[in-house]
Amino acid sequence: MKYIDEFQDPELARRLLDDIRDTVTRPWALMEVCGGQTHTIIRHGIDQLLPDNVELIHGPGCPVCVTPLEVIDKALEIASRPDVIFCSFGDMLRVPGSDRDLFQVRSHGGDVRVVYSPLDALKIAQQNPHREVVFFGIGFETTAPPNAMTVHQARRLGIPNFSMLVSHVRVPPAIEAIMTSPSCRVQAFLAAGHVCSVMGVQEYPELAERFKVPIVVTGFEPLDILEGIRRTVRQLERGEHTVENAYPRAVRPEGNPAAQAMLADVFEVTDRAWRGIGTIPASGWRLSERYRDYDAEYRFSVDGITTREPAACRSGEVLQGLIKPHECEAFGATCTPRSPLGATMVSSEGACAAYYLYRRLGIPSTPQEASPVA
Ligand code: SF4
Repeated sequence: MKYIDEFQDPELARRLLDDIRDTVTRPWALMEVCGGQTHTIIRHGIDQLLPDNVELIHGPGCPVCVTPLEVIDKALEIASRPDVIFCSFGDMLRVPGSDRDLFQVRSHGGDVRVVYSPLDALKIAQQNPHREVVFFGIGFETTAPPNAMTVHQARRLGIPNFSMLVSHVRVPPAIEAIMTSPSCRVQAFLAAGHVCSVMGVQEYPELAERFKVPIVVTGFEPLDILEGIRRTVRQLERGEHTVENAYPRAVRPEGNPAAQAMLADVFEVTDRAWRGIGTIPASGWRLSERYRDYDAEYRFSVDGITTREPAACRSGEVLQGLIKPHECEAFGATCTPRSPLGATMVSSEGACAAYYLYRRLGIPSTPQEASPVA
């Protein structure tokens, strides 16, 4: 398929790998920030094709995985109410809360619906004026603009029965948190191309300079990843630490100003807890004061939630790149995509799901387990 096949060309991949091998003289540890990049790497075995002294550390860039347990539990509480139609993207339905997931809420009579756009949820609100319609708005800078635009639209059209449960996160503060962690081994970053297509690259030079790390904006196909790695190790070997854009077909330096303006209008920056990691200052967005009427956390009284993480789940260590998924004792045993203990085994961008799907590591294959999310 044009535009996909050309970024999976085996001959070009071989040349990029040769270039990387010729460049590298000592060990380097790079972090790919985005879970979509992790899936490409594991699916195509890119980490196994690299020289032994180039390690890829999987980053926390999976939106489903880092949504805090408290917010999941709030979603479960709101979705259980008889007057509520709860709308979400499909990959949130199997994410385990403290004692159940959205599938279980639905099986007990909750009106939980899968939508493909926040605007679908807004339409449901218009069609059901006597019900409360709540959309679960999570994700990074990529999903935040359409969610912001939907809240803006709800306010403009005066749709009173629509609200959003918001848990958005931002990449640059996460990079800062990773680099200031005492256990940090990361020496360079492959930045997430789709995030930069929205936000541009303006936020990265200061981070590259402060932490002396190369940051290379990278796409999602195998050749994109290899080119990102090639540029990153070239900088590391030269002792450089600049921001490079290796994904110019999608990323302009200034990003998408219209999307940024919508974000600035609807959201305000806030501290945000990341599941398994903890609170990172200024790492999230919430609805601003002007849009508070559309904030489901304010509309529904869901305070006082006590969360319980399964003790066996080490997804926090996976998300910080401290262990690989198969090093978790529960991997493939008590934790599988059909019966996940942590969100990293559920999400289509989760590292545990990637290792389970593409690198079974001795786990017997069963057809029922072939898909991470039903
Ligand atoms: S394999 Fe399962 S239990 Fe282990 S870290 Fe991943 S999600 Fe958690």
